[in-house]
Amino acid sequence: MALTAEEQTYIEQLYDDLIKSAKRLKTDEDIAFVRKAFELANEAHSKMRRKSGEPYIIHPIAVAKIVASEIGLGRKAIASALLHDVVEDTDYTVADIERMFGPKIASIVEGLTKISTILDQDASKQIENFRKMLMTMSEDIRVIMIKLADRLHNMRTLDSMPEYKQVKIASETSNVYAPLAERLGLYSIKTELEDLSLKFTNPIAYNEISKKINETQIDRDKYIDDFIAPLKKIMDDNDIKCTIKGRMKSVYSIWRKMQKQNIPFEDVYDLFAIRIIFDHPDDITDDKARETCYRIMSLITNVYEYHPDRIRDWVKKPKLNGYEALHVTVMGPQGRWVEIQIRSRKMDDIAEKGIASHWKYKTGEKGNNPGLNSLIENMKETLSNSESSFDFLDDFKLDIFTKEIHIFTPKGEIVDIPKGSTVIDFAYDIHTDVGNHAIAAKVNHKMAPLSQTLYSGDQVEILTSRKQTPKIEWLNFAMSARTKSLIKKALKADKSTDIDKGQRMFEKKQKELNLCLDSKDIRHLREKFDINSDDEFFYQLGSGQIKENDITEIMTMLDKQKNTKQDGFFTKFWKLGMGKSSSTKDGKISHKDTFVINDAEKRFSLATCCNPIPGDEVVGYITPTNMVIVHKKDCPELKGLAATHGEKIVTIEWESYKGKSYEVQINIEGIDHLGLVYNITKLISQEANVNSNMLHFETKGEIFTGKINLFVQNKYNLDNLIRRMLEIDGVIKVSRCE
Ligand code: MN
Repeated sequence: MALTAEEQTYIEQLYDDLIKSAKRLKTDEDIAFVRKAFELANEAHSKMRRKSGEPYIIHPIAVAKIVASEIGLGRKAIASALLHDVVEDTDYTVADIERMFGPKIASIVEGLTKISTILDQDASKQIENFRKMLMTMSEDIRVIMIKLADRLHNMRTLDSMPEYKQVKIASETSNVYAPLAERLGLYSIKTELEDLSLKFTNPIAYNEISKKINETQIDRDKYIDDFIAPLKKIMDDNDIKCTIKGRMKSVYSIWRKMQKQNIPFEDVYDLFAIRIIFDHPDDITDDKARETCYRIMSLITNVYEYHPDRIRDWVKKPKLNGYEALHVTVMGPQGRWVEIQIRSRKMDDIAEKGIASHWKYKTGEKGNNPGLNSLIENMKETLSNSESSFDFLDDFKLDIFTKEIHIFTPKGEIVDIPKGSTVIDFAYDIHTDVGNHAIAAKVNHKMAPLSQTLYSGDQVEILTSRKQTPKIEWLNFAMSARTKSLIKKALKADKSTDIDKGQRMFEKKQKELNLCLDSKDIRHLREKFDINSDDEFFYQLGSGQIKENDITEIMTMLDKQKNTKQDGFFTKFWKLGMGKSSSTKDGKISHKDTFVINDAEKRFSLATCCNPIPGDEVVGYITPTNMVIVHKKDCPELKGLAATHGEKIVTIEWESYKGKSYEVQINIEGIDHLGLVYNITKLISQEANVNSNMLHFETKGEIFTGKINLFVQNKYNLDNLIRRMLEIDGVIKVSRCE
């Protein structure tokens, strides 16, 4: 069916767009050359239509546009793209093309025609043939690039194909074309090919993931903004002009991760990376660009802690496909790992558009591009080595010689523990109490048993339960001698709890029966059970190996000789510290005297940077206006003041000071179960000296987190509350926000 006038106009419009987007068409001659190719193609395809019913020529124009604007190639490639289906689908021959456009274009078009034939074969043969073809293709990598553009446009318009073809084309795309695009450093094309491929091979997963990406967008944007803010500041402060932005992972790569690790979307924690692209003059030297990358990295590490084993330096040693960047993974807020990619504007162009972007930065010379040639050489070399043909270089640096590994806490602090340590070692390393109550861990956000071996860079959160007690099996996988001895000690202590319990049971029974037995009687009693120590007897009773009823009769019998009774009581004394008597409450404050805070003292205020409360370890800073600002001893601001104004620092003592409540915030973490929130709120409401105006609870998986705003009178009240909270079943951690 011939083209309508409307269609002709539309085609001319598309062609104009193509020319506008082709930044590398500079001269009138360039434009005339491309126009000639367009006219031939338009004429040759004029009677053809695509499956969608559109005029066929729309496809070659679209491919040429991808070649021009997304890959950044020049006039020969653009013309070849326009002509790419002419020999295959129409009566024109390679010889015709050569006559009209010269041997270069003819050989590219011929190459494109050959590739199509190869790709009609079985998928298993495709890669092998691809390799052969690339090996023998002495001159032109542009053939592959145009073929990729061709495939990309076909994928973008795959909707109009019948379903069985969609799946075939889509799987071929992810198996052959996407890896090839990556090889050539065409990352944005690779990503789009993968995403489109997933959309057709697994539409359910694709839609689900896309939906969740949208739903979580607002939270993520907020996190990224918060994360970027201090980086922007430090770059500004150091006069580095750059763009800092968050880059979402592709749907496909999220899906791959979910598959590989068998986790739901919610557990994929590195959904985005941060990219820092710095500006520079076009003629920047490679050395200068590298230097700037390292400088930016060192500035970043002033702000965030970095992962020692996850620095990828593709600046010093670029990837074979030409990719250059410095990747560093840092610990962001909320204990989340965030990857930062540092690139120059030029490196970014190359990463997005492939090595063809080198042209932009070369002046004068045309056609002879060292970057592209070395890329082709590299590719051939890689391809000739069949082992590594389509594997990607993943330079994970393994610290196999170090004796210590770095483990990160959920908050991102580094803890060094011996190599070979397991989760239980780490738990005891944090605190004996944590070890004794450990039930499992989250290693890199995944549940892991106590026996799991840890590796450098793992982020580990220990899950505990107050009901848990040390188990003898733990000795099998505890690696360090220290952990083993702590477990053994706890096992013994555990036994002593049962001994206590047995003893109490015994005394209770004795009281019930109104008996009074002495140590001689107890010896007689235990001998009946063939037990040779009192402790063992009480232990067996306390742990339930001997039943209470078994001893009742014997006890009564033994008592028959007795007629005296004992009473016992004990008293606990509380000793409360007495405050010093008040000092004078006016006059000049001297740093030589202790400044006592009590109800009569008005010449002070509490620092807002560290919010101390009565009972905290504090010191004061005497202001020129004869006031004392009370800071926590470990307040960074105070440390700065102390360094420069040592003579203004005064010792503080809290005396009775009850007039006021102080606001503090605490974080709670635990394992969620029914009643946990109720128990926490009940506890707060019961504490006489504590009030709350804000409670916020959140549950993710089995992990529960809460934030509570409290008003307390002093640290004693607060510590007491925290201690009681930790006794609530399920509560693992309570901490005061600094
Ligand atoms: Mn095509």
